[in-house]
Amino acid sequence: MTKRVLFLISDTGGGHRAGAQAIGAALDEIEGATRFEWRIDDIATHCTFPLSKLGPAYSAALRYAPPIYGALYHATNGRRRYRTIVRFCEPLYRERLREVFTQYQPDVIVSVHPLLNHAALRARADAGMQAVPIVTVITDLGRVHEGWLLPEADLTVVPAREVYQRALDRGVPPERLRLLGHPIHPRFEDVSATKSELRKKLGLPIDGTICLLMAGGEGGGKLLPTTMGLAKAGLDYHLVVVTGRNAALKAKLEELAPSLPTPMTVLGFRNDVPELMRAADLLVTKAGPGTIAEASVAEVPVVVYDYVPGQERGNLDYVRTNGIGVVALTTAEVVQSVARIVHSQERLAKMRAQQTAVAPRGSSRRIAELIAQIARVGRRVIPAAG
Ligand code: UDP
Repeated sequence: MTKRVLFLISDTGGGHRAGAQAIGAALDEIEGATRFEWRIDDIATHCTFPLSKLGPAYSAALRYAPPIYGALYHATNGRRRYRTIVRFCEPLYRERLREVFTQYQPDVIVSVHPLLNHAALRARADAGMQAVPIVTVITDLGRVHEGWLLPEADLTVVPAREVYQRALDRGVPPERLRLLGHPIHPRFEDVSATKSELRKKLGLPIDGTICLLMAGGEGGGKLLPTTMGLAKAGLDYHLVVVTGRNAALKAKLEELAPSLPTPMTVLGFRNDVPELMRAADLLVTKAGPGTIAEASVAEVPVVVYDYVPGQERGNLDYVRTNGIGVVALTTAEVVQSVARIVHSQERLAKMRAQQTAVAPRGSSRRIAELIAQIARVGRRVIPAAG
């Protein structure tokens, strides 16, 4: 028997697709009589303008006008306001979403994006597919945006205690709420090579300290000044910079690297982040929830240098309260913080111990098991929406 799982995402950042792929990979591992087929759909790309440009608009907003994005985030973050916006935007996506549902005939719909939960509920009704369960997998931390919270969902999976509490407060029934951790790819838990073996494989120096820099899937924001600050700080380490999909930044750093006093490896979008993180001693990153959760499993302490206004604010608190790294929001502070901890084995070990304590163990595999169970038995196992 084959069961179909449809993941709804939008490529606003890299985290939503990465989360869906992680759960999909874990679904592939499930053995037994039922086979799981899954598909990831970036719904916005098939919709009418302006939704069709959602991904590029998000990248541009974060690159050129973060405060405007922050203002938009806050302006839409209210239960009534959000539901009004959803209604207003319905003509842009409703028909397309219904088509996707009827063509694919999923056994479970999994939304991994805050803009698609309420939309999925409507489209399911439009498609006459009331028997198909809707699962929401939240991939943000802290006081998550109203769009994430859909009390009518058959199941809501959250990554952290803070989000569990917020979901309860916003009316998600506890029997349909599960705290399973951020859906990070199973590969992060499966790396068995030693640090030296990984460095050799990656073509990085075997000895010495490696400081890895990342800025989510888009590689934008303050990655350039942060890299420059660390490269000119006169500290004894090798820098590895992952520029993600930001080809212009990669070209710029490659041009600058030979004239900088610190050795540096510049990389574009990589599919071997689990190995890169395990090979490093410290990760300097923007506050992406996926990256922060992955770093905990890879046991590489973090220095967080930037955050998306509104959306990633809770991630800063998560890093601070859990003691898994430090938050340093100016280049000068980043350099100071890195200088303080990068060669202090005692501090790094303490942060790694905290990471071990909070790391989501087997999150994607556990989420996949739950989805598989729901796919097999349908909405019967979960109390129907009130
Ligand atoms: N990522 C990747 N390759 C890269 C850069 C990033 O696979 O070259 C992944 C990273 O491991 C993480 C995701 O992209 O899983 C970024 O998600 P996060 O939530 O940290 O930030 P976002 O990009 O959504 O803002």
